[in-house]
Amino acid sequence: MTVGSTLLKLQELDLALERDQAALDGMPEIAQLAKKRKAYLKLKGDANKLLAARKDLENDLADLDEDEAFCNAAVDQAQSEMQKPENHRLMKEFEQQLAGIAKKLDKINFARKDKIAALEKAKSNEAYATEYIAKFEASVIEDTRAAREKADEIRNRIEVSRHQRDALIKTVDSSIIDTYNKASKRFNGLGVEKLEGTVPSVCRMSLSPSSMDSLKGADEVAECPYCHRLLVISAEEE
Ligand SMILES: [Zn+2]
Repeated sequence: MTVGSTLLKLQELDLALERDQAALDGMPEIAQLAKKRKAYLKLKGDANKLLAARKDLENDLADLDEDEAFCNAAVDQAQSEMQKPENHRLMKEFEQQLAGIAKKLDKINFARKDKIAALEKAKSNEAYATEYIAKFEASVIEDTRAAREKADEIRNRIEVSRHQRDALIKTVDSSIIDTYNKASKRFNGLGVEKLEGTVPSVCRMSLSPSSMDSLKGADEVAECPYCHRLLVISAEEE
């Protein structure tokens, strides 16, 4: 490879490296994933609230069962007391007591219906949330995988370019590389241009006949009289 072709190839590699590094640093997938992870934590928090609400309802129902058992025991007790002959004169009080307990049992049954309906609703909300979260989890996992794959692809490309760059640098004199590096820095990555006919490939200023004449005697790589980039006079075709 001629020095001119080497410099052009080097510039191509450096531009690709810069593009790839920028793509890697600015991957929109990373920001999206961060957002999704935040949303996922919120969903988990909501699911915990649903679970707590369901547990509350289950506890309420257990309390109602306990109250009912207590009332039933009181009914049994009152009824057995009523059988005793010595208690016959207290019959009215027992009846009042039983009526009171019956009212309580009625209230318990009424409350239970509400709680059972609420529990069904809570369970269905919970099941929906669980399913939704599972799907969400799967999508986060898939997005993470895809982002990792994309990042790995870019990293591989960067590594290949770096190897090519290192190998390329060894083929030319280090002073030429110094000149290239300076030009690259000065012209923001585009320090080398190629003469196409009478027109340099970057600045596109057509060279005058006298400039063309003076370039005839010059080395393979000269300096553009207009923009002062490194000007490759003749590069071998790739
Ligand atoms: Zn130029």
